[in-house]
Amino acid sequence: MVKSTRSDHKVKTSKAILDGLAPDGGLYVFTDLPILNLQEMKELSYQETALLVFELLLEDMSHEQLKKVVEESYHEDFFKPSPVTVTHHDNHSYLNLYNGETFAFKDMALSILPKLIQESKKLNDITKPNIVLTATSGDTGSAALSGFSKNKEDYIIVLYPTSGVSAFQEKQMLQFANKHAMVFGVEGNFDDCQTIVKQLFKNVKTNNTNIISANSINIGRIIPQIVYYIYSYFQLIRDNKVELGTEINVVVPTGNFGNIYAAYLATKMGLPINKLIVASNDNNVLHEFFSNGVYNIDRTLYKTISPSMDIIISSNLERYIYDLLNEDSDQLKIFMESLLVNGSNELDAIKRITKFKTDMATETETKAMIQKVLDEDAILIDPHTAVARVVYEKYIDLTKDETYSLLVSTASPYKFIDAMRSALDMPKASNIKTAIVEVEVKTGIPSDIRMKDVLGQTTENKIILKKADAYSEIFKLVGEIDEY
Ligand SMILES: *Cc1c(COP(=O)(O)O)cnc(C)c1O
Repeated sequence: MVKSTRSDHKVKTSKAILDGLAPDGGLYVFTDLPILNLQEMKELSYQETALLVFELLLEDMSHEQLKKVVEESYHEDFFKPSPVTVTHHDNHSYLNLYNGETFAFKDMALSILPKLIQESKKLNDITKPNIVLTATSGDTGSAALSGFSKNKEDYIIVLYPTSGVSAFQEKQMLQFANKHAMVFGVEGNFDDCQTIVKQLFKNVKTNNTNIISANSINIGRIIPQIVYYIYSYFQLIRDNKVELGTEINVVVPTGNFGNIYAAYLATKMGLPINKLIVASNDNNVLHEFFSNGVYNIDRTLYKTISPSMDIIISSNLERYIYDLLNEDSDQLKIFMESLLVNGSNELDAIKRITKFKTDMATETETKAMIQKVLDEDAILIDPHTAVARVVYEKYIDLTKDETYSLLVSTASPYKFIDAMRSALDMPKASNIKTAIVEVEVKTGIPSDIRMKDVLGQTTENKIILKKADAYSEIFKLVGEIDEY
């Protein structure tokens, strides 16, 4: 069962997956969370772990339904190569989540969300096709297009900030573009795209289709992300890094607060986690908020080399603030509304939080870290993961904490090739392919062969919308699809 953060509106989890946002504009949160029986989970495969977690959280789906969802999404081919590996270094490991179909951790949830939606529709007696509406800072777009374009009758519309995604990400999204998969660049930033999508959710009424959200405001995105925290904890046990019951730290490069919120839910379900460490780039809204209690969204958004974290309004933070306000929906609603009106708001309670630690990495620190990790560990980490690594080292320097730490590695470095070259002190190349090959040669670390497919994609089919027009254009488009 889940409820809205902004009222007492309660629904079954399957209904929440179809709704995305609650009708009152709030986000859905679990009314109560089950506690895991860790003893029984030690030897479970990824699929078995997923099935167990889903059965606990998707209370109205049957075992058979969920088994089908897991088998059809996390099938054998999905694990070739494995999109969930844990690699070890000195007192820390990386949870590598970027070997899925679109080379970022978003694949873990977006490969399974379409199936969860399909089963949710059955439970709610809905047969209409879906229009999936998504704002992306780059990686959600590709992963959602990949996941949803498998169902031929559905439509998907993706909005991305034209100057906020890497060349590779743009090509990757355009690769999927067709009559059912529409990709639009918006002359604005990610927050603009996210705001437009949220307004559309509020105002668009359809008769013949269901509007679905593939963003992490959808609880169906968060649930599959809980699984890899649990699974990787047991992987650390199997590899003799920690013993059952020992707490670990988890370090997450954070944008919309979805991934780390999933880790937080795992903690609430009994996974032994000491600190949840939020890593930000120059857009350090979260670090500021957790440090001094001031949530200030009236600020400039900086373009960084970790574009998937170039976000000011972290949607999922609302879910956590709701907890901090002792699940008081009235107070939460007042807090969020006055935040939007005034551009900032204060929450004293957050300063007393000890479970979360936050810090930020500058561009210079991030680039230096990419080079350092290559030199010392002979691995390439992408700019987002490098932000996490910088923040992890700052945390260790400051606290001398010796707890074993798990750093979430969220994307393939080759998706952000210009940033990687800049970090490795290489000049800009004439095209992406050369750019990638030269880094492969220099580092001896190969890119995924499936990436070559993306490189041949042209950008001639690119459609750009002015920020001022995007809302009405998409509004009209959804109306046309709905009537079609
Ligand atoms: C989406 C994304 C993030 C941020 O994750 P959130 O769940 O939005 O906090 C970090 N790194 C990469 C590579 C991403 O694609």
